[in-house]
Amino acid sequence: MSKLGKQDQQELILRIAVPTPLRRLFDYLPPPGIGQAPTPGTRVRIPFGRQKLTGIVLQCRSTTNVPPGKLRRAEALLDNEPILGPVLLRLLEWAANYYQHPLGEVFSAALPQRLRQGHPAGQSVEYWHAAVELGSACDTLARAPKQKALFELIFERKRLSRAQLRESGFSSDLLRQLESRGLVYRQDASEPASAFDPLAIRPCGQLELNAGQERAVVDINAQRDNFRCFLLDGITGSGKTEVYLQAMAVQLALGRQCLVLVPEIGLTPQTVSRFQERFDCRVSMLHSGLSDSERFSAWDSARTGAAAIILGTRSAIFTPMFKPGLIVVDEEHDSSFKQQDGFRYSARDLAVMRAREEDIPVILGSATPSLESLNNARRGRFTHLRLDTRSGSSRPAPMRVLDIANQGLEDGLSETAALAIQKHLELGAQVLVFINRRGYAPVLHCVNCGWVAECDRCIAQFTLHSNPPRLRCHHCGKVSGIPSSCPHCADSKLMTLGAGTQKIEASLSKRFPGFPVLRIDRDSTRSRKRLDSMLMQIQAGKPCLLLGTQMLAKGHHFPDIGLVLVIDADSGLFSADFRAQEQLAQTIVQVAGRAGRAQRAGEVIIQSRHAGHPLLQNLIQLPYRELAATLLGEREAAAMPPFSHLTLLRAEATSMQAGIDFLRQLQRQLPSPPRGTECLGPIPAPMEKRAGRYRSQLLLKASRRSDLQRALQHLLDVSEALKPPSGLRWSVDVDPLDLT
Ligand code: ADP
Ligand code: ZN
Ligand code: ZN
Repeated sequence: MSKLGKQDQQELILRIAVPTPLRRLFDYLPPPGIGQAPTPGTRVRIPFGRQKLTGIVLQCRSTTNVPPGKLRRAEALLDNEPILGPVLLRLLEWAANYYQHPLGEVFSAALPQRLRQGHPAGQSVEYWHAAVELGSACDTLARAPKQKALFELIFERKRLSRAQLRESGFSSDLLRQLESRGLVYRQDASEPASAFDPLAIRPCGQLELNAGQERAVVDINAQRDNFRCFLLDGITGSGKTEVYLQAMAVQLALGRQCLVLVPEIGLTPQTVSRFQERFDCRVSMLHSGLSDSERFSAWDSARTGAAAIILGTRSAIFTPMFKPGLIVVDEEHDSSFKQQDGFRYSARDLAVMRAREEDIPVILGSATPSLESLNNARRGRFTHLRLDTRSGSSRPAPMRVLDIANQGLEDGLSETAALAIQKHLELGAQVLVFINRRGYAPVLHCVNCGWVAECDRCIAQFTLHSNPPRLRCHHCGKVSGIPSSCPHCADSKLMTLGAGTQKIEASLSKRFPGFPVLRIDRDSTRSRKRLDSMLMQIQAGKPCLLLGTQMLAKGHHFPDIGLVLVIDADSGLFSADFRAQEQLAQTIVQVAGRAGRAQRAGEVIIQSRHAGHPLLQNLIQLPYRELAATLLGEREAAAMPPFSHLTLLRAEATSMQAGIDFLRQLQRQLPSPPRGTECLGPIPAPMEKRAGRYRSQLLLKASRRSDLQRALQHLLDVSEALKPPSGLRWSVDVDPLDLT
């Protein structure tokens, strides 16, 4: 804290980040009785309009543009010490700027709810401090020797707690007298952090590294004290986790904390126990399933240093750390690291930014790295570490594409695929059937007149679900009953088209009686218990069929899988989304990686009506890294990311025209585009209507990021003066992943 002289007191102005959609800081006078400038990162309670809000002090200065009569006074400081340190403050300010999101809301997103609501952070203790110099106190207290002695003690020790007062033998009456004379003042302070003890952590069960792992660990640890970003690019089963663990061991031994980010559904009990078992230390978990108080306690344990390892999903990137040493982002290509609404940040990108600010190493790991990260490695920004062999004796499973163009399918399954399933089950292996479509069937229609069941709030078909039997919209969540006859031509019977997980589950159970079918999708795993019990059944190793969506492709270890069958690869082949091929390749490689993990020879079959498609052919012939190089070449030729930068402006309104008009109005505010900057649109979004609102978009594309940032900054500055029509919402998505 910096002390200000008395004459400056009325001039102290706090600049505060306030949780509102307004894109600026707000000036306030300090709370009554506060003459010292609070350290940035301290929370403060302020009146805001008619509300009381919790803001964060970012700066203290002596001038303001607010006219004196309008300047309001903050009500109270909520912390004696900042709850966010300088690195996080800088990171959040940077992120607000970069993602063009209001700073106050960015801060809110970073704090646990309890702190947003103004509750105290941590345990606090009262301390008394000297308010005046020793000389002047001695003059005042010339005739009160006991008070003088106590004052001298406080002055000497800088501060005194009640417990210390008791030990010193002075009475609390004396202290009260000093306080009422204004010679000492009271202040609460957090308990000193009790950081974890590095000597107590002895890694157990460390594996002997193979040559590739050894090189990776040596390279990472050579940079253990400063910023460097490593791309750990290793096929499934190559032992990336062992590399993380051994790099972490070095940091933990130095008393430094490690932050590990995993995808949303990757935070399984198995993941946690892997870290817990290796290091007998406090592992704090941060994910969306926590209660407020659990979240706060995990957050606080990271801040005080009590937690040695912080394991969390996307938003854990904002966790303060007492002494950070290493950040790991596992499955860095996963789309759940990008927040899809509100403050649309990428936790992977912020992890790199944060590591830079903290000056510590960061590891991005994946078997299927994003094209962005591969390009950064190619350009030398990231150190590229490759792991190309599976640990132990297991081999990657060979893949083949099964041409189903002219085959009859029974519930999505070809005869050839069914025979392969039969063979593997009889050999005692497990079979994984992958289909990225939950529900019973994606279409319910009338054969007579062509009517299709559609959600009236979206431009989208209803998905038929079997248990309970309902129509569900996967876009807005609307649920509707199943009509018994066609609502259009009245008497005709309705039929389903296509197959989702539920229909295939029924079909597999019928065809392979005697083998359990375990369905793993968002519907069947709403209860954590149910998922865990299914995972346990799989670990037991008996032959069975696992059937599921994307959820199956992530983070799990299924050592007994002999066959992986991809029911349908075709939807990603012809999508208009420029990332569709990358995502399809990643998904298939990840799912395929579940096969042949232990001793068992594996096999991967991909059903397709377009078996000759170059992507599929490359997928089965080339390692992912070479396939990715091909895709990167295509991106470069098309000048798409990572060879250009995108920002998507979205509008949602009660009519399509209103949205388009508003985006056009925004577009007119853009300065004449510098070379290499393009503005595409406004056009209706690929998904034109969702949850009753019409959606449109304007895409900005630039070859230089700084041009785009400047244009956006300008746009948002002038946009405050634009009045969007009522009912219109709009948003900015920098580096969008989802263009629908
Ligand atoms: P990845 O995360 O790259 O898919 P994992 O880290 O999960 O791979 O490792 C796959 C399996 O190989 C695990 O069972 C792990 O215990 C084992 N493993 C990893 N490294 C070694 C090693 N050096 N020696 C023996 N087994 C290893
Ligand atoms: Zn009909
Ligand atoms: Zn809908």
